Amino acid sequence: MSPPRIFLLGAPLDPVTQTEALAMIRGFLQGEKQRHVMTPNNEMLVEATHHENFRQLLNGTDLNIPDSTGLLWMARLTGQRLPERVTGVDTVTALCASLTEETPVFLLGAKPGIAEAAAAALFRKNPHLKVVDCFAGSPREEDAVTIVNMIRAAAPRLLLVAFGAPAQDLWIAKYLKEFPSVRVAIGVGGTFDFLAGKVKRAPGFMRSIGLEWLWRLIREPRRIGRIWRAVVVFPLLVLRYGKNAPH
Ligand code: UDP
Repeated sequence: MSPPRIFLLGAPLDPVTQTEALAMIRGFLQGEKQRHVMTPNNEMLVEATHHENFRQLLNGTDLNIPDSTGLLWMARLTGQRLPERVTGVDTVTALCASLTEETPVFLLGAKPGIAEAAAAALFRKNPHLKVVDCFAGSPREEDAVTIVNMIRAAAPRLLLVAFGAPAQDLWIAKYLKEFPSVRVAIGVGGTFDFLAGKVKRAPGFMRSIGLEWLWRLIREPRRIGRIWRAVVVFPLLVLRYGKNAPH
């Protein structure tokens, strides 16, 4: 049984530790139902305030792991608690380190060649991991038939989708039912870029004091708009609306 979800700006988050999140996903992989796991961060919750479909999607998933430190701070500010930050990249790394041939994996998204490099990095840590296929693809409608056919042919049990938010999760919600073999689909954001070594993660001390955004701003200044929404707009919205969706 998972603990009750907490809410920020009308979007639910699961107050789970990394260990608990992994146990839940492993349980989902054994089950019969199809599950959608999201990795929300500050920007995604801002997006949900003006994107009704996306907010509904967040409310309908099976697990929303709190991917950013800002979520922990804002939870506390609103009298709620998230035990720890649970990132998509750490979750995927730990999950794939323990999977066997019985849980084939498909990596979809990121720039050409990145998913393959991420798969190679995961395979180095776990030679029992079975990656059935990788494909960059895109969330565009005209690419859907090709992707659906590839995934159906590969028949994975775990589907990792890296199209960025909100596209990746809207894509999963639309197409998951087309893949009867898939038990768990996760929107993983920049996870493949990190695993492939294309994007370097912030040093541990910066992550621990919640300054990962500053690291990313220095290394990728073009993200300024997103970082503004994450570190300025998001806290202001939470101060004003707390647990509730702005109306
Ligand atoms: N991406 C993609 N197709 C798109 C948009 C994004 O494959 O149309 C990929 C992008 O290459 C990256 C991932 O989605 O690997 C996540 O992008 P971003 O860095 O924006 O996400 P974040 O990690 O910040 O959630």
